[in-house]
Amino acid sequence: MPFTGTIMKLNELNAISGSLKSTTKMPVLFVGHGSPMNAIQENEFVTGWRNIGKTLPEVNAVLCISAHWETKGTFVTAMEKPKTIHDFGGFPQELFDVQYPAPGSPEIAGKTKEIIRKAEVELDYKWGLDHGCWSVVKHLYPRADVPVFQMSLDYYQSAQYHFDLAKELASLRKRGVLIIGSGNMVHNLGLVAWDKLDSTGYGYDWAIEANELMKEYILLGDYQKLINYKLQGKAYNLAVPTPEHYLPMLYALALKEENENVNLFNDKAVGGSLSMTSFKIS
Ligand code: ZN
Repeated sequence: MPFTGTIMKLNELNAISGSLKSTTKMPVLFVGHGSPMNAIQENEFVTGWRNIGKTLPEVNAVLCISAHWETKGTFVTAMEKPKTIHDFGGFPQELFDVQYPAPGSPEIAGKTKEIIRKAEVELDYKWGLDHGCWSVVKHLYPRADVPVFQMSLDYYQSAQYHFDLAKELASLRKRGVLIIGSGNMVHNLGLVAWDKLDSTGYGYDWAIEANELMKEYILLGDYQKLINYKLQGKAYNLAVPTPEHYLPMLYALALKEENENVNLFNDKAVGGSLSMTSFKIS
């Protein structure tokens, strides 16, 4: 019965538009999240996040694309109350005690599934918020009063695929959704100078070289070089030994429109082989 089908769709549409009114276009963030300890420490990166938080308009929800949720296929969290996931080891109990009780948004998660054509997005009820998301978002919204949901990274897909998929999220920006990519542009855990993780500004030559190249491509809008990251030379290859912390940056950049600017912040290396460089698109 096609007629019934049409009514169903109209009802669904009304339900969606009911609480998802048009808004001004939300900015997009990429944040270098670094150590999970940033969740509970006071340092200049946390201050940087708070300062950016003060510039954000009122939002309906936050969508995080975190380096720490890799899956086969693409999922969005759709539970009412996402749990705080402590997906790390070897940190003090104080960090494991942190809860970030932001609500989820089953409705906007459903909408997100609906607008993506490139992948068959599935709704997830098991994940929650991983530290790539909550360790940063808790400083942007300390009262945990804004709904937060996540979209996973399909581990089996190319950088070009992720960039194209991210573009399909564009309409969420006009529905009050703040999209945040959370990773680290330069991220080589195997080479971290653990004794220099706190001395902000310490980066190996190759880490600084790669970070400068990435910033150059970002500011010139040369996204194809960023997408073809494996072809950008030795320093770049050391900076991106695996793609999961790098791809969230491509998600953010894919959403930049021509008349928008990219403003860098927290642009520093830590621990030799990580960069905290972040940006806001607006
Ligand atoms: Zn991480």
